[in-house]
Amino acid sequence: MESVKTLDPEIYSLIKQEERRQADKIRLIASENYVSQSILEATGSILTNKYSEGYAGKRYYEGQQIIDQVEQLAIKRAMDLFGAEHVNVQPYSGSPANIATYLAFLNPGDTILGMALPHGGHLTHGAKVSISGRYFNAQSYELDPATGLINYDTIRLKALAVRPKIIIAGHSAYPRILDFQRFREIADEANALLMVDMAHFSGLVAGGVHPSPVPYADVVTTTTHKSLRGPRGAMILCKAQHAQAIDKAVFPGVQGGPHDNTTAAIAVALKEAASDSFKEYAAQVVKNAKVLAESLMAKGFTLITNGTDNHLMLVDLTNKKISGKVAAKALDKAGIVLNYNAVPFDKRKPFDPSGIRIGTPAVTSRGFKEKEMVQVSALIERIIANPEDETLLTNTAQEVKDLCSHFPAPGLEHLF
Ligand SMILES: *Cc1c(COP(=O)(O)O)cnc(C)c1O
Repeated sequence: MESVKTLDPEIYSLIKQEERRQADKIRLIASENYVSQSILEATGSILTNKYSEGYAGKRYYEGQQIIDQVEQLAIKRAMDLFGAEHVNVQPYSGSPANIATYLAFLNPGDTILGMALPHGGHLTHGAKVSISGRYFNAQSYELDPATGLINYDTIRLKALAVRPKIIIAGHSAYPRILDFQRFREIADEANALLMVDMAHFSGLVAGGVHPSPVPYADVVTTTTHKSLRGPRGAMILCKAQHAQAIDKAVFPGVQGGPHDNTTAAIAVALKEAASDSFKEYAAQVVKNAKVLAESLMAKGFTLITNGTDNHLMLVDLTNKKISGKVAAKALDKAGIVLNYNAVPFDKRKPFDPSGIRIGTPAVTSRGFKEKEMVQVSALIERIIANPEDETLLTNTAQEVKDLCSHFPAPGLEHLF
């Protein structure tokens, strides 16, 4: 990065500091990851110079000889990897992908039914502060109060009562596998479209360790930068009959020109995701989550649903007499980075809720295995028992750094 260093030393220095942070910390934010050097190179390429509103063969500006091939390659790889009939790779990110899906099928005021935000749904699934909750009649389903699990009977009754045009399955903080067939049956009975937002777990689907929603859903949206481990971006996968509606909704409905450098990096990520080593990564993500969940439970932590089937877990800290925010801030000082999170039926306020969310994709990408997950659980226990012991926090941060020094993170190999 010699030229940034010379031209803009301030930004250069900040990037270098962030590189160090990502190298030296145990990153457990469930939506984050480390992309490969190849993905960094594609993202940083001169494809960023091009404008290409429209789709291959139907663009509004000339000079698309190369870009058309880039986009078609990304689409083909996504179709092959996920078995989808049609794919749009242009959404700038997960939120615009969801908004485009609504635009494709809904008019303002139409009813949607998604998982409630405090129960693990995403903002764009109908939260009041989001355009999805302001422009549509957003209805929501909640988790079962006794088990913390999705209750399909409740969703069915709600769907039959409110008659949504779209039912949304998918989440940002639910530790279990979804029953897509059941969602499909409910959608059919309620005469609704089924949209699955697999932003969090698409890497697990690609790696074959999570059931695929693609055969069941009318539309599947996903970010490309979470467990799928690509650049920041998104895709919409849909049945052929919806192809035109989706493409028109993305452009010109919601967006202008696609980010062609991102499209190229998505293509690279999809090539990586089709490899055997990606399958190993995906399987290890799930194994690591299981081991971490079991170790934490053995230490007296309360896990929502008593464990996990996927890449994340939700810990209710109520019995540890500490709020999620105090815990997350102390852990961050100790080199363990995660986020505070509401638990289902949380009695505390969203800005200082009772829980923390923990995910394993990023640490798995840098090579953590079962043994390290047990170590991580011990570090978490230690900090949560002593969140105000500044010496302990500083010493633990050094211990974390020493541990991390043995696990070169993808894209950051030059720091190891
Ligand atoms: C992260 C996420 C999104 C939004 O992605 P952005 O890229 O942050 O806009 C959408 N849906 C779900 C379920 C997510 O977890």
